[in-house]
Amino acid sequence: MNAISRIPLLVAQLPDTDALLPYLREIDANRWYTNFGPLVTRLEQRFAASFAPPPGAPSAITAASGTAGLELVLGALELPTDAKVLLPALTFVATATAVIRSGYRPLIGDVDASSWLLTPETAREYAARHRVDAVMPVATFGNPQDVEAWDAFVADTGIPVVIDAAGAYGNQRVGRRCHVVFSLHATKALAAGEGGVVVSYDHALAKRVRRLSNFGIDLEQGSQVFVAGENGKLSEYHAAVAHAALDQWPVVAARRRAVQARYQHLLNLHCPDLRLQRRAADGIYPILVVLLPEGLHARDLQPELLWRGIETRQWYCPTLDQHPAFSAYVGGPLPVAHDLAERLLGLPFFVDIDELQMHRVCQAMAELTHQVHA
Ligand SMILES: *Cc1c(COP(=O)(O)O)cnc(C)c1O
Repeated sequence: MNAISRIPLLVAQLPDTDALLPYLREIDANRWYTNFGPLVTRLEQRFAASFAPPPGAPSAITAASGTAGLELVLGALELPTDAKVLLPALTFVATATAVIRSGYRPLIGDVDASSWLLTPETAREYAARHRVDAVMPVATFGNPQDVEAWDAFVADTGIPVVIDAAGAYGNQRVGRRCHVVFSLHATKALAAGEGGVVVSYDHALAKRVRRLSNFGIDLEQGSQVFVAGENGKLSEYHAAVAHAALDQWPVVAARRRAVQARYQHLLNLHCPDLRLQRRAADGIYPILVVLLPEGLHARDLQPELLWRGIETRQWYCPTLDQHPAFSAYVGGPLPVAHDLAERLLGLPFFVDIDELQMHRVCQAMAELTHQVHA
């Protein structure tokens, strides 16, 4: 038997029972379990206020998941049914499924080689050559999108922008003109099991998002449905978990910051051949992904690392265009995304990771990546 303990890739950490109890007791007393109950209402106020205090706060609308949030805000844009939505090839599949489920067509674009993001500059290039009805940039691996630059993009082009910031709560700000969607999935930095939040300064759009999350029922016009929606609501139980998670957020965020800073220091020290995403060093990240030196494939290293008791994952390989469901939607060559996808490797990263575990990962990575020069 392997005497060395396995270092997991990811350890989800949600609020424990004691932290949930006050909120669950509230639900017991309210007997209100879903349909925009008091916990959901208060949760939305907490989220909105975390971006700006009222009365200048944006609207925050909860959803059953991050993906539901993306679909709802895309629906609320009310684009024509053949609309094309530009998104990056290097992202989780939900970015593309949300576009297709909303009745639109993805337009898969490339990403920047150092930030690994689809940038406003890239979007301007695509918009000059293609029909682009909306852009869905992603805050990839928690790296926030530049909202001022996207606000300027919206002002200049009139093309709406929805930032898929699923894993970037704590890092991603909200622009005046671009809408942002966060996920509360168990694996994200702020986790409630399942859940999502749409945040926007466009309060009329937020209202449409809410209506679509409730089947499209228009409560202000005789409960009629004018535009078909879905059931995308967050339950009071999930809101309870999200409240408890927000209560713990300062501690969790500080710990994630500390782990990220220490890891980055050790990687720079021991693995100078690895490259990290160009992003703020003091961010709060859900995962840690490194770029292997040219000539190395992430999939070739994974068994070697596993043999050393280190779990890893390739993010996001295959890229969107390499999935059969999305291969018809490519907007041109994707050299950067394809190169990154083969060389990006997700390393163990979680709130409780200790110094020894970080050292073991860095030492193994140093051994395995140094071979290139040998
Ligand atoms: C996690 C994630 C999603 C999906 O969020 P869910 O809450 O799981 O639906 C969408 N896009 C990106 C980039 C993600 O990382």
